[in-house]
Amino acid sequence: MSDTATSKGAACPICGRPAAAPFRPFCSKRCADVDLARWLGGVYRVETDDPPEEPGADPRNDDI
Ligand SMILES: [Zn+2]
Repeated sequence: MSDTATSKGAACPICGRPAAAPFRPFCSKRCADVDLARWLGGVYRVETDDPPEEPGADPRNDDI
């Protein structure tokens, strides 16, 4: 629990995971987008990259 002097020395400011080189100082594009959204005014919509619709998740399919 004491990694004060790691080789990378950088943690993702969003989730705290070790930063990845292509996305530094973030760990992933997702976290970079979250931070960017915060900078742009707190539009909090990039948190999830999953589509809002989940086919098959709705048991009520009697409309077809
Ligand atoms: Zn992260």
